Amino acid sequence: MINFDLLVAGCDTRCKHCYVNGGPLPRMKGDDAVLCIERLDAIAANLLDEAYFTLDHEPMGHPEIGRVIDAAADTKHIRYHHHGMTTGVGLMRRDDREAVLDRYLSHGFDSFGITIHGGEALHDEIVRRKGAFSASVAFGEFVKTRGAELEVSLMVNRFFPEQREEISATLDRLNPDFVYIALPIFTPHKNGMDYEPYRMSIRDAEVLGEWFRALRKDDAELIERARESSVGFAAEKLQNGRGLKILFSEPQGEKYLAVHPDCLLYMGNSGAETDCLGDLRDLDPEAAAKRISEAPDNRDYGAFYDQSVLPETERLIEALKTLPQETVYGDEPSVIYRGLAALNVPTRILDLRSEQQRQ
Ligand code: SF4
Repeated sequence: MINFDLLVAGCDTRCKHCYVNGGPLPRMKGDDAVLCIERLDAIAANLLDEAYFTLDHEPMGHPEIGRVIDAAADTKHIRYHHHGMTTGVGLMRRDDREAVLDRYLSHGFDSFGITIHGGEALHDEIVRRKGAFSASVAFGEFVKTRGAELEVSLMVNRFFPEQREEISATLDRLNPDFVYIALPIFTPHKNGMDYEPYRMSIRDAEVLGEWFRALRKDDAELIERARESSVGFAAEKLQNGRGLKILFSEPQGEKYLAVHPDCLLYMGNSGAETDCLGDLRDLDPEAAAKRISEAPDNRDYGAFYDQSVLPETERLIEALKTLPQETVYGDEPSVIYRGLAALNVPTRILDLRSEQQRQ
């Protein structure tokens, strides 16, 4: 499976947990976006693996999103994956929001999602934009009135126990078709540490048990998942013989690439780019497909470390023991990456953020 992440419009927020380098970026020109989709289709025609692409970070903020969506729906060899996640800011500030939404719906892209980080003040603090909570909720209400499906991703942090009622009131107001419970993973790129003060612990998951049940979630399973994603559990597992090098040699099975607003094509998901393959508009599709096919898979961030720089497992266990043992990181590999960050183990990820994003 090969995935291309096409960044056409930057993002209206600068979330502290963002692992795809969201934030304000220059927009891709409408003509370029359509041409890039055509070029991706031509590359996919030369690939043996199944290929698909997404439009990220906040495509609904692009002035010409209508024709970009038309082009995305009109490919022959590459499939457009509409994930529908948005901050809502891009669409809700547009005068033509009804026409834009209708364009999505006309192609059958009728499911959309927003992420909620807590009550209004906490949400805006985490996504680093005042008014973002109101825009997300207004977006949710808007798409529901137009007959679209709404999913809400609750990104659980350590303030959820004290903000339960406020969050429940938001859910009552939105009446979403589906609610996800999500935890941001730790990634070894430059934004990685910003979310640390918000991470939940196993204890928070236990306190939220009854509340999870009210959301029709299996609280026992969620608490167990939290335990299995904690620092202490990962250290214990490493101690019991799961060597670091074995973990990093496991097959990845998927390849991620990113296309930036300047049309440069990179190996690696956005935020975790390693090599630039050139300007997508000028690439020979056959040669590009060959190069992509020959590149190693990079599904998880383990692909961005050189095996030769990995520390001995014992050193990593010592580093993990210096971290709060009950902290939950979303999955076991992300705990390992957090430990490697504590040891300052270098990655091959390029830092492509603009000055504005860095501040
Ligand atoms: S997490 Fe998503 S919404 Fe937030 S800055 Fe990153 S891309 Fe944008």
